[in-house]
Amino acid sequence: MLNIILFGPPGSGKGTQAAHLVDHYNLLHISTGDLFRYEMGNDTPLGLEAKSYISKGELVPDEVTIGMLKNKVNSNSDVGGYIFDGFPRTIPQAEALDTFLSEKGTSITALVALDVDDDEIVKRLLNRGLTSGRADDNDASIIRNRIEVYNNETAQVYDHYSASDKSTKIAGTGTVEEISSRLITSIDKLSK
Ligand code: ADP
Repeated sequence: MLNIILFGPPGSGKGTQAAHLVDHYNLLHISTGDLFRYEMGNDTPLGLEAKSYISKGELVPDEVTIGMLKNKVNSNSDVGGYIFDGFPRTIPQAEALDTFLSEKGTSITALVALDVDDDEIVKRLLNRGLTSGRADDNDASIIRNRIEVYNNETAQVYDHYSASDKSTKIAGTGTVEEISSRLITSIDKLSK
């Protein structure tokens, strides 16, 4: 299996790039942000709980997020691999993912991180907020909180996988095509 973590701060272009990688490698794209938005859109109990965190730019608690991720993987097991987008976002999530995959006889192949600086991220998110309908993209203080949460809780996930030489950083600026070809080059190198 080819199991990729697409990593990077909010607004770094993970969703856009995931669509390209899915086509290239024929993988299942799992975005925890999209899964939460689906639940919120349907006003499910999970969606209502998630909304109370997402609207403030905070992380949804690990047990909720991990449970939802496992359900998604378990109900889509007949695939060549996964692109995890927006997950894991904490060390406990990374540890839970490693255990879960190892129980299935597989593991993370590579973590590819999109590198984009904070000023550019704020600009992109405010711009996305004009059309995305996402409340968490509309307010500069919520955006700043998401970046802070990324720096405080999520950035360490990069080091968790670099300890086994699986992490790599890619410049997240340039055209969509330039960035996807950089990603593909790195993934091919790490999956050899
Ligand atoms: P972005 O990458 O633009 O911040 P996402 O769509 O990945 O957006 O996530 C939106 C929100 O959903 C996050 O700010 C967070 O509140 C919640 N979320 C998504 N994935 C996770 C996760 N793995 N753990 C906890 N919360 C999450």
